[in-house]
Amino acid sequence: MILITKYLKNFYIVLIILTILISIFFIPNFKFQISLLWPAPGYYTINSYYGKRIAPTEGASTFHKGIDISAPEGSSFIAVTSGTITYVGFLGGGGYTITLTDENTSIGEIKYSYCHCDPNFIVSEGDYVCKGQIIGYVGPKYVYNEKGNPYSDENGIPTNGATTGPHLHFGIRINDQYVDPLNFLSKQE
Ligand SMILES: [Zn+2]
Repeated sequence: MILITKYLKNFYIVLIILTILISIFFIPNFKFQISLLWPAPGYYTINSYYGKRIAPTEGASTFHKGIDISAPEGSSFIAVTSGTITYVGFLGGGGYTITLTDENTSIGEIKYSYCHCDPNFIVSEGDYVCKGQIIGYVGPKYVYNEKGNPYSDENGIPTNGATTGPHLHFGIRINDQYVDPLNFLSKQE
């Protein structure tokens, strides 16, 4: 009887150790379980992926900190998750940009940026937006009313940041570190 009890005790200890080891193995993968909507409904072609690249136009980065989704001017994009709009304006190479922030996730603060937007913004800084809500539109290639905009095409016409044509640039920062958005997105509505 004592022998059986001892065996059981060892069995439970082994079970506990196994559980801990399995948990340690799977915890890093929890970050991939944030559930996001695809930012540009109906548009799933990616023109430029996250990572190293040859700059497509002067001023564009050689390390692409997001993905470029092919979408025509005027197509709507949505909040991939619920959160607060923390930036609306012209932001260097990103042109007209909207930033959506989700402050209180289990892995920290996550910022979602939408670049080369239409300057006729429909959200303002401080707005709380719900997952799936339309928050803006893909902007034009050319913009004319932004003072100090250093970006232009080969003919000197000012552009909507460093861009070669209308598209949605979408980026994700987790605690201020850029990550590949495709680790978190799936091409589904
Ligand atoms: Zn881009």
